Amino acid sequence: MILAAGEEPPPAPAGCFADAIRIILMVAMTRTDFLKLSAAAALSTAATAQNQQPNPDLGFTDTPMLPGMPWHVHDPARPHPKVVVPANVPGAPPSDAIVLFDGTDLSHWVQRGRGANTGKMVDPVWKLGPGYFEVAGNSGDLLTREKFGDCQLHVEWASPAPPHGNSQARGNSGVILMSRYEIQVLDAWENPTYADGQTAAIYGQWPPLANPARKPGEWNTYDIVFEAPRFAGDQVAKPAFVTVFYNGVVVHNHKEIIGAMVYRQVAHYTPHASEEPLLLQDHHDPVRYRNIWIRRLGSYDQAG
Ligand code: MG
Repeated sequence: MILAAGEEPPPAPAGCFADAIRIILMVAMTRTDFLKLSAAAALSTAATAQNQQPNPDLGFTDTPMLPGMPWHVHDPARPHPKVVVPANVPGAPPSDAIVLFDGTDLSHWVQRGRGANTGKMVDPVWKLGPGYFEVAGNSGDLLTREKFGDCQLHVEWASPAPPHGNSQARGNSGVILMSRYEIQVLDAWENPTYADGQTAAIYGQWPPLANPARKPGEWNTYDIVFEAPRFAGDQVAKPAFVTVFYNGVVVHNHKEIIGAMVYRQVAHYTPHASEEPLLLQDHHDPVRYRNIWIRRLGSYDQAG
């Protein structure tokens, strides 16, 4: 066939014409060329077969089963977790966090009413400052409107500067999970007090593993991972556990909590709901808070 300049060749023949073309090629080509062409076709067929196999980048099904799980080692069917966009700067909330205080308002919080409002929850009277809020002494605790159980919590706080008082009367507040389980907030800078009541203690139970305190007036961080207790009727099926980083230093490592916060007594559990408000303690000192966010903890093998 002779094609004029710029003329497109006709479409390739199909069906039985393909066999005819194959025969023509066998005659026209040298034996070596034909063998090369046949080898290339065989490789192409093998590659196609390989593409139909499971992609090893995504896992394997010929591996052993993980003990007690419905998954093979590297199982391609195992659910992938949800995508979370991390914060641009350390300490800022990731994309799925519930921001409880972003520096602007206390709309996520309430206080217990007093006087004519006894028995009601009312808007907070704690003081809002530029980018922070401050305990209004003797006004009562601050509680979240929303309730939480298992969670990751980030809180930043600063004790008053210059400091006032000593021991438990110096910069005292508290991050009280489920309104019951207190991680102590206190001025820990050169402020002797009992160990199980010092800053970052599980109050009345466990001192922190270290004291990485900053000076009064400087901002501290708590990063807390909390597992709520489980109850079966009036019995404790599983106690609460907590992990705490204080200014980036681990001070509790999956530590068992022995009960609700109490003063001068041994703590014990009283059954409660699976989610309860987060509480910040009014211990009469003007402690400041900022940048508070929380994430509910998911469980393993939840699809995103
Ligand atoms: Mg306290």
